[in-house]
Amino acid sequence: MPRSGTKQVPKQVPKINPKYANFKLEIKRSKIHRWGVYAAEDIPVRRKVMEYTGERINRRETKRRSEEQGRMIYLFTLDSYWTLDGAVGGSGAEYCNHCCDPNIVTEIRNGHILYMSRRAIRKGEELTVDYHFAKDIEKYICKCGAANCRGTINLK
Ligand SMILES: [Zn+2]
Repeated sequence: MPRSGTKQVPKQVPKINPKYANFKLEIKRSKIHRWGVYAAEDIPVRRKVMEYTGERINRRETKRRSEEQGRMIYLFTLDSYWTLDGAVGGSGAEYCNHCCDPNIVTEIRNGHILYMSRRAIRKGEELTVDYHFAKDIEKYICKCGAANCRGTINLK
């Protein structure tokens, strides 16, 4: 997720952990932001594509990490108390970029964050999710290019 910091550009291409992926996926340079996750095969609609994994941290630790400077933030809110930090033990799903018209929807099931296909996805397409950033936090400009782009990653 494009939050803060520039010093953590990985020298190696990040990898998808195949244990958490149900389709062939790969991480490549993205036009949207740094890295992106791409379908390496066709994915039908309404299928589990992958799971978002990471270290499970509580509210206080989430606040601390989100305020840390110079660090890429890969925090995914699980519920009002728990957050998964994809920077630690992430499956690769943390490299999915934001789009206002995404092809992936997230579903929280039994404490697991699942990335489901919102429509059929063709081989070679970049996987995108709507980050749904809160409207009352710092504004993040969106350049996803979708016809219905909100202009910010934050909700209106
Ligand atoms: Zn947008």
